Amino acid sequence: MSRFWSDHIHALEPYVPGEQPQQKMLKLNTNEHAYGPSPKVFEAIAAKNNADLRLYPSADSTDLRQAIAALHQVQPQQVFLGNGSDEVLAHIFNTLFLRDGRPLLMPDITYSFYKTYCTYFNVPYELQALAEDFSICIEDYTRERAITPAAIIFANPNAPTGRTLSLEQIATIAAANPDAAVVVDEAYVDFGAESAIALLGRFDNIVVVHTLSKSYALAGMRVGYAIASSEIVAGLQRVKDSFNSYPLDSLAQTAALAAVQDRAYFDEKRLAIIASRDKLTKDLQALGFQVLPSKTNFVFATHPQVDAAQLHQQLRTRQILVRHFTQKRIEQFLRITIGTPEQCATLIEAMREILSA
Ligand SMILES: *Cc1c(COP(=O)(O)O)cnc(C)c1O
Repeated sequence: MSRFWSDHIHALEPYVPGEQPQQKMLKLNTNEHAYGPSPKVFEAIAAKNNADLRLYPSADSTDLRQAIAALHQVQPQQVFLGNGSDEVLAHIFNTLFLRDGRPLLMPDITYSFYKTYCTYFNVPYELQALAEDFSICIEDYTRERAITPAAIIFANPNAPTGRTLSLEQIATIAAANPDAAVVVDEAYVDFGAESAIALLGRFDNIVVVHTLSKSYALAGMRVGYAIASSEIVAGLQRVKDSFNSYPLDSLAQTAALAAVQDRAYFDEKRLAIIASRDKLTKDLQALGFQVLPSKTNFVFATHPQVDAAQLHQQLRTRQILVRHFTQKRIEQFLRITIGTPEQCATLIEAMREILSA
């Protein structure tokens, strides 16, 4: 706290990211990619490492925007790029969620940055409890309400649960809320779920958010994007150009373009991570864990006999980082990022030791 701060800074509740340790540890705590980016990314960055860095980058990332539009079979005017999907989400909150005091609806357990942005932008919100099995209850988002919601946001697959709604369930939500933006954060969609981009032809209120941080292994480059109607994207552009016209630096644009274009590498590693996830799930179950079904690059697991906070701590002393949340209902779970087969084996070995001690 400081007497020099603007008034509203005192009330902010900043997002707390997973730890980035200084010393070498097995990092299974922030859902980074197990393998790293395509070799083509390194070549592309090297080719751009020259005096042209004195020039400003393309303000709307023209080449990358076209490549992403082609990838998803939409028009370039339907693509909005940002400095990580967190920034894309910030502009979405600012552009679409401040409507006459109407509330934003979101699950009580989901990506915790949404609440941070609600405080930051002063967006009123109503939390909808997940069902007993941690799935999103469609009815909470479709029933008649005295006040029409301003918008709806959730992650699909959801984080940190890993559970997934079907496209038909998302279509039901979009159809019931024609005057509200329905934002689907698909940070993990490439690990086995279906993208709601397929619904954009039927619904002009759906906004799909993607990131290159997880499935393209570019968390360090900070590239995310939204796909929506050109009308919604035009609003997002207005906000971006009133805030920072150059959110993606030249190297980030170059790296992202190379990553998106190397489909063979993307698919090979994506499938390897899915295979590791299915094996890790079975290995954890064999140790007595309950594991929620996951279509992401992490699993969400709980052990009926062992306290999650203690497990987290004991893994830490063995140089293994996983994520533990203290929020009610999920405080007995650990979120474990899918590593390489060797990393998963190291984790399972450590768990075996801890559980038999
Ligand atoms: C990782 C993550 C993001 C943020 O991605 P960045 O592009 O790295 O900012 C957004 N939403 C969810 C659900 C995530 O897990």
